[in-house]
Amino acid sequence: MSDYKLLIDGKMVPGDQTMAVLNPATEEVLAQCPRASKEQLDQAVAAAKAAFPAWAATPIEERRRLIVKMAEVIEANVNELAHILTSEQGKPLADATGEVMGMAGFFRYLGSLDLPMRVIENSGDRKVEAYRRPLGVVGAIIPWNYPLLILAFKLPSALLAGNTLVVKPAPTTPLASLRFAELVKDVLPKGVLNFIADANDLGDHMTKHPDIRKISFTGSTATGQKVMASAAQTLKRITLELGGNDAGIVLDDVDPKKVAPGIFEGAFQNSGQVCLAIKRLYVHESVYDEICNELVAIAKNTVVDDGAKQGTKLGPLQNKMQYEKVKAFLDDARKNGNVIAGGSAMDRPGYFIEPTIVRDIKEGSKLVDEEQFGPVLPVIKYSDKDDVIRRANATNYGLGASVWSSNIERAHAVATQIEAGTVWINKHLDMAPNIPFGGSKQSGIGTEFAEEGLAEFTQLQIINGPPAA
Ligand code: NAD
Repeated sequence: MSDYKLLIDGKMVPGDQTMAVLNPATEEVLAQCPRASKEQLDQAVAAAKAAFPAWAATPIEERRRLIVKMAEVIEANVNELAHILTSEQGKPLADATGEVMGMAGFFRYLGSLDLPMRVIENSGDRKVEAYRRPLGVVGAIIPWNYPLLILAFKLPSALLAGNTLVVKPAPTTPLASLRFAELVKDVLPKGVLNFIADANDLGDHMTKHPDIRKISFTGSTATGQKVMASAAQTLKRITLELGGNDAGIVLDDVDPKKVAPGIFEGAFQNSGQVCLAIKRLYVHESVYDEICNELVAIAKNTVVDDGAKQGTKLGPLQNKMQYEKVKAFLDDARKNGNVIAGGSAMDRPGYFIEPTIVRDIKEGSKLVDEEQFGPVLPVIKYSDKDDVIRRANATNYGLGASVWSSNIERAHAVATQIEAGTVWINKHLDMAPNIPFGGSKQSGIGTEFAEEGLAEFTQLQIINGPPAA
């Protein structure tokens, strides 16, 4: 279980160095993880480059068959992968199991897509065809909140399109990914899929690498900006899925008891460590007190504990740095609002923070204006619909949002005015591989999932000539 290795050129190999990976629920060392050197990253890229021509020439039906085979391997190993995920990421085992099953579901659906040639014109002396060609070596960079699911957002589409891959998980959550690599190593030809692990020091080398043609990145906006800057040197294609500060807007006609559970789930799932979580909740003054009270009741009944314990609803924050960051948000909440549930880090080992509801807080405070990425929700009062739309849009982020109302038409009219890649009505965080997903403004560039996401792993090629005689 503790013998993790990198996957380079079809072989599981030790890292040139090692690094400790901790269990965030106990702060104990889970495993010594291999840590790749720059040379090992170069070897992985070279292996992917060498494997590319044959993989690109492999018929898409064969590539699809191997992606489905990987889904089967995932499904046959759900338990083991889920246990590793809980131990390194912190999330409850039920959620980790859901993540692994979701991973298999993304492999199956994204693997089922197609890249048909499209005839743009066929008239007289002109026949114009549009082909989707693979790019070459793709680098996938993954964050620590959903290590396996976010891997599944990228891997099947990149490989189905005919690219080869070098994957880099986040330094604090590499283990489930490396175990997955070991499980599927013999499914694909050697070099098609490579996994390295780093201590936050190889991302820049990947984004600059002259033999990597595209970077598919999920992480913070600050790191996304660095990726974009260094990818410019080689004009790499980039897809950036970045941070968010999603607004939830509760209209005056809701039944507070009915909507509160969905709002709570949308804000606190994965202990709030979700790019698309509700991070600011705007509530009409006529239902403000009731919504606050309902959220407090749910927060107080939420079991926060080690994700490995049955009955746990929320686990710890994933790492110390994020834990310290969220504690700074708690300080701000105490200064600028009224903390009506939670409000503290828990006095125990591990990075636990109580689910926290903060009322009477406004824009201009850190908790409202910045991405907390933790279990602390500011609830902001509003009185005018146009004003709340303006306030929801007054941010550089634009990932998701939701509108809550008992009148779908009213909610829809508000939804169309929100500047975000996804706007939900009466729900939040409903995602599926057939629904394209991407951020607007500084929440990202490009799209993942569905045909739109697949297309981003390809280069359009036009063949323009006379029709065949
Ligand atoms: P992060 O940006 O710190 O790290 C993400 C990944 O980038 C890690 O693998 C890290 O090692 C790597 N990295 C670090 N420096 C790099 C560099 N200079 N070049 C290239 N890669 C580098 O993000 P995080 O803290 O792991 O994740 C949390 C953030 O991710 C939040 O802001 C969250 O909103 C965002 N996120 C976005 C989505 C989305 O789909 N939009 C999904 C999940 C998380």
